[in-house]
Amino acid sequence: MKKINVNDEACIGCGACVSLDEEHFAFNDEGLSHPISQDNLNSENLKNAIESCPTSAISLTENSSDNDETSIEDDEDCCCTSCDGHCGCEENEA
Ligand code: SF4
Repeated sequence: MKKINVNDEACIGCGACVSLDEEHFAFNDEGLSHPISQDNLNSENLKNAIESCPTSAISLTENSSDNDETSIEDDEDCCCTSCDGHCGCEENEA
């Protein structure tokens, strides 16, 4: 399922997307655009808003279904994969 994203660092608050597509965009307290709806993502207004953004701050990305547990294995205590974390290799490397 797709999702509208506005890159805060790229948005310059020009208002093009807000005026072209009030269904999906509004200004936040900082005067930058943010998405207010994730419905009707095939609308012509949304397409126009994305194409009209002068800084390409708006994107439609795949929503990866709340799968944020991607790197738990990277958080293991040990830096090598062969000793099950008991060799003290991190201390030895210091
Ligand atoms: S069109 Fe782009 S730069 Fe302008 S307010 Fe919208 S997101 Fe920001």
